[in-house]
Amino acid sequence: MGLAIGLGQRGIKTIVVERYEQPQPIPKGQNLTQRTMEHFHFWGAEAALRAARTIPPDYGIGGMTSHGTLLSGYNYNWLQRELVRPFYFTDNERLPQYATETVLRQRAAQLPAIDLRYGWTCQEVRSEADGVVIEIVNRDGTKQSLRADYVVGCDGSRSIVREQAGITQTRADHDRLMVLLVFRSTELHSLLGRYPGKSFYNVLHPDLEGYWKFFGRVDLGTTWFFHAPVPTGTTRDNFDFRRLLHEAAGAEFDVEFEHIGFWDLRFTLADSYRAGRIFVAGDAAHSHPPYGGYGINSGFEDAVNLAWKFAATVQGWAPAGLLDSYDAERRPVFASTARDFIEASIFRDRDFLRQHDPARDRADFEAAWRARHSGARAEVNAFEPNYEGSPIVFGPPGGVSSAIGSHTHAARAGHHLAPQSLSSGKNVFEELGSGFTLIDLTESTTGAAFERAAAGLGIPLKVIRDTAADGRETYEAQLILVRPDQFVAYAANNDGAEASGILMRAVGRS
Ligand SMILES: Cc1cc2nc3c(=O)[nH]c(=O)nc-3n(C[C@H](O)[C@H](O)[C@H](O)COP(=O)(O)OP(=O)(O)OC[C@H]3O[C@@H](n4cnc5c(N)ncnc54)[C@H](O)[C@@H]3O)c2cc1C
Repeated sequence: MGLAIGLGQRGIKTIVVERYEQPQPIPKGQNLTQRTMEHFHFWGAEAALRAARTIPPDYGIGGMTSHGTLLSGYNYNWLQRELVRPFYFTDNERLPQYATETVLRQRAAQLPAIDLRYGWTCQEVRSEADGVVIEIVNRDGTKQSLRADYVVGCDGSRSIVREQAGITQTRADHDRLMVLLVFRSTELHSLLGRYPGKSFYNVLHPDLEGYWKFFGRVDLGTTWFFHAPVPTGTTRDNFDFRRLLHEAAGAEFDVEFEHIGFWDLRFTLADSYRAGRIFVAGDAAHSHPPYGGYGINSGFEDAVNLAWKFAATVQGWAPAGLLDSYDAERRPVFASTARDFIEASIFRDRDFLRQHDPARDRADFEAAWRARHSGARAEVNAFEPNYEGSPIVFGPPGGVSSAIGSHTHAARAGHHLAPQSLSSGKNVFEELGSGFTLIDLTESTTGAAFERAAAGLGIPLKVIRDTAADGRETYEAQLILVRPDQFVAYAANNDGAEASGILMRAVGRS
């Protein structure tokens, strides 16, 4: 839906084929990062999304990690995204994925370039000489063929598009069966009253070897979800899920189940994000356990990375080769997200639980537990996906695209642009164009040279002129070329920069 909106806003005709008439009521994908909320801002859906929040705005959406049980008394703040808030234009948000999808569906319906086909299932995808054909079928059995220049499989981890395009994936099985419980409980809300402002809770237990017992609020006070590993062979009927919840919490409370489901814990990464005119994005390209809330946020960034590149290609201001940079940028970032953040945290938790146990040595455990708190803060700072190794940005020599980075106001090629106030009082994010933007703080004629070069090349470019003062000096660059996805393509201090060469590389023309 995000990709369709990004294309629809640019006037690119897009068809969305979605088998369900309505969003499915499973409350997954809840934690939306500040970066994701920037996407909603640019998609014109931020206000509607915040209004759809299921937890009142004055109640926090923070996380907490505890040891043993939820109520053991050993806990610290976890995933404190507010630590990196200054580096993004918007606040983070939390709501169930079906509520997010509803907002996206409403926004997509406002854009005339988007043709929404709900209730249709894609059965076949095939490439032809100059396009792609998909065969779709409606609930009543009606069939249709659709032809397009490109197809993107945003069809989840069991993607038929990926499969039929012949895109293989690399898989790391962890051999854990996971249960997802959605339940109602008012007593759990009372029990957790001692942790105000928290909306998700991760319980580390020595028996689970680093895998989590995870509680999340779906709304304030009544509805919850929970996931945790369960023994192989567990079914809805042969396991005491109520007891599992009580053990995880460390207390008994009322439970009324709304949903009991299962999934296998594994990491998968498509070996390519592209096969000719067919692409994959979101869970179709990569999937992993929902530890740390990277899934939906990674998928939205895929969509944003693809949207401007499709527009550039279809509108003719970039060669089709620009689309290869989608794989070059997004795949290494996801590989790093899975390896360096999600899987690393499972192994780190497992090692910690083996080494430190309050029953064995309380003083040692408490010292190590305190140290973990600062480690959790460092992790939030270190998650900064960047494209330093991309062929279309002017990254450092030997740069590698990765999810590991650092947050700073300095403008660096391959990194997300930090917000900053302009002399007008507006934020630079309010002034960015839908194409490329040059932030020109040189107070020289360089901006005009870029405008001329962009006009000659047909590349949409907006120039923001200002001074390198009043906070803007923290960009540490006076000339910043910002891509349509708010990543920096080029940042330097030379006001004699060779405009057309820079622009051409940024759109994959050289
Ligand atoms: C329990 C749980 C909790 C999670 N919590 C978080 C979290 O807190 N934060 C986070 O970032 N991520 C979380 N995730 C992961 C997140 O939900 C996924 O990363 C996200 O849903 C991926 O979105 P997607 O659009 O790529 O795929 P999906 O959400 O799977 O959407 C795919 C869509 O394609 C449709 N479709 C599939 N096949 C076809 C077909 N052949 N024809 C037509 N339509 C088709 C489906 O109906 C579906 O609507 C969680 C996942 C689970 C299971």
